[in-house]
Amino acid sequence: MTDAARARAGASLRGLAVGDALGSQFFVPANRAAFDSRALPPAPWSWTDDTEMAASVVRVLADHGGIDQDALAASFAEHHDFDRGYGPGTGRLLRLVREGGDWRVLARDAFGGQGSWGNGAAMRVAPIGAWHAGDPAAAACDAALSAEVTHPHPEAVAGAVAVAVAAALAADAPRPPGPFLDTVLAHVPAGAVRDGVAEARRLLTLSDPRAVAGVLGNGRLVAAHDTVPFTLWVAARHRDDYATAFWATASAGGDVDTTCAIVGGILAAPPAPWLAATEPLPAWADPV
Ligand SMILES: [Mg+2]
Repeated sequence: MTDAARARAGASLRGLAVGDALGSQFFVPANRAAFDSRALPPAPWSWTDDTEMAASVVRVLADHGGIDQDALAASFAEHHDFDRGYGPGTGRLLRLVREGGDWRVLARDAFGGQGSWGNGAAMRVAPIGAWHAGDPAAAACDAALSAEVTHPHPEAVAGAVAVAVAAALAADAPRPPGPFLDTVLAHVPAGAVRDGVAEARRLLTLSDPRAVAGVLGNGRLVAAHDTVPFTLWVAARHRDDYATAFWATASAGGDVDTTCAIVGGILAAPPAPWLAATEPLPAWADPV
């Protein structure tokens, strides 16, 4: 565990928070027209559950040097703010953990015993990849551990692995879009998420994010497999340009705070004025 890893995880968290906070402004009706012309809405931009949970991920990385599942569940539950837009399943799970429930039982029992396949594990995971920059296998391992705490379904785990590996690569060395997604694919287990990322790889020849989201999904189903492939297509194509990546992601609609949080966490370098307009991160999350 190094100071550099802490700094990278902190940068990823800030990128994630800006994407989440600005993306969530999309849902304010008065801001819709402004978004169409790429005008920024009035500050401050408040972040949502994506950032609150990612802050716990960073706290646990900094304290434990990796993902300790019990510590992560405890931090999720302790910091759970009902008003941050949590999905009903995760909100209920965290309330029951806070009341003494066992996350291992509660997370598995959800959704008829399958566990959630929602995008809630992928939305918070990018800092794990940044922590493990250049070591995608380690990123994949900690991403899977982090997902299991609330989203143990194999597709939700695969979504978290895919995003964390992408973040580990983005925080390492420049790669062209094709090899970038090929390396992600090498670490993602078979299933709908992996099929979607493979399709994203094939669609790198396209340039219209709305057309691509029409094929891959935009998070409208709030499922890992309809959220993660499109975000990785954007991250692969616009790895060095946070603002362009943000507008490409937001233009597709859907679960905009989460898709923009994922892309923002991978790219990890928001424009300074955007960071200044975003609600400050909680002090307890500071990894340095
Ligand atoms: Mg959210």
